[in-house]
Amino acid sequence: MLIVRKRKEMEALVRGYKAENNKIGFVPTMGYLHEGHASLIRQSVANNSITICSIFVNPTQFNNPEDFRLYPKNEKGDVELLQQNKCDVLFIPGDEFVNDILDVMIDMKGADKILEGEFRPGHFKGMVNIVALLFQVVQPHKAYFGQKDFQQLCIVQMLRAQKFPKIEIIPSPTIREESGLAMSSRNARLSKEEKQNALKISQALFSIREHSKQIWSAKTLKDQAIKDFFSSEELKLEYLEIVDAQTLVPVSDLASGLPIVVCIAAFAGKVRLIDNIIINS
Ligand code: AMP
Repeated sequence: MLIVRKRKEMEALVRGYKAENNKIGFVPTMGYLHEGHASLIRQSVANNSITICSIFVNPTQFNNPEDFRLYPKNEKGDVELLQQNKCDVLFIPGDEFVNDILDVMIDMKGADKILEGEFRPGHFKGMVNIVALLFQVVQPHKAYFGQKDFQQLCIVQMLRAQKFPKIEIIPSPTIREESGLAMSSRNARLSKEEKQNALKISQALFSIREHSKQIWSAKTLKDQAIKDFFSSEELKLEYLEIVDAQTLVPVSDLASGLPIVVCIAAFAGKVRLIDNIIINS
């Protein structure tokens, strides 16, 4: 696997790949890679002739400086995971890459103001700007994103439609630990006890999915899950919303037959975790 640290070098490599008619698959990440990331890499390797993974922790998408400072890092482990999964190139630019970020104007149709956007102001603007820069540098045919970050995926689709129509965005299902906990780089910051408490997040999602077979009222489902899973102090719920999978706007009932997503953000100790489940009603 090639490891590239300079933008110019990456761009030259991409020109070479394109001249040879390669299909480029791209997996942008923030590192501290786990099986969730590996599943994206494997999909890209299976469907493209070149797979490029990027690792860059973009300071402009962190609204909480502490969250940025404490974001876990493990370059050696990341390189091993990527090599095991047959990634061709790791693009890991230095801190100076932040100076190349431009302000990309897209219409996020209000999706940047709700759910994560409400609690992390500026997060999606920062995310769009870095993904746009990475798309420019890597020029992928296909880019792989996890449904674990469902709202991010929706906004990346908008970026694609408005600025990068040639790139195909491939959504990928959330990979979970056996316990049900969604894999996340931030899980590394959880104590044993916090990790145990965090299990209630996925349990709440599975419970809502199960109950939604009989109960269609979003309010009833939401109230019951909050009572059952978030009544203790150990896990602090930030939001639990049952929303339309297209618009991300809360729904009042699940009878429409349209895909619904249940989204949760909660703090286990100081670590903020998000998770969601898609209900194909
Ligand atoms: P991150 O490094 O957290 O920015 O994530 C990089 C990519 O991996 C994003 O597209 C995420 O949605 C995806 N991802 C993160 N965790 C998971 C997971 N548990 N399952 C599937 N994809 C994931």
